[in-house]
Amino acid sequence: MSPKAAACPVCGQPSAPESRPFCGTACRDRDLLQWLGEGYRVPGPAADEATQKNGNYGLDSEPD
Ligand SMILES: [Zn+2]
Repeated sequence: MSPKAAACPVCGQPSAPESRPFCGTACRDRDLLQWLGEGYRVPGPAADEATQKNGNYGLDSEPD
């Protein structure tokens, strides 16, 4: 494997020097859109973790 043989992570074609690591601006934009799409799902698990913390605190402060 040669270090220069980098393939586009989106379509697998050889990457272009001006838009590495992608083969072109089309794949670069597509990858960026995928990142933005996944970003919207991040707040989900984080909110769930906060709820669990509150639940434990409530049980701990209960006298009975
Ligand atoms: Zn590509």
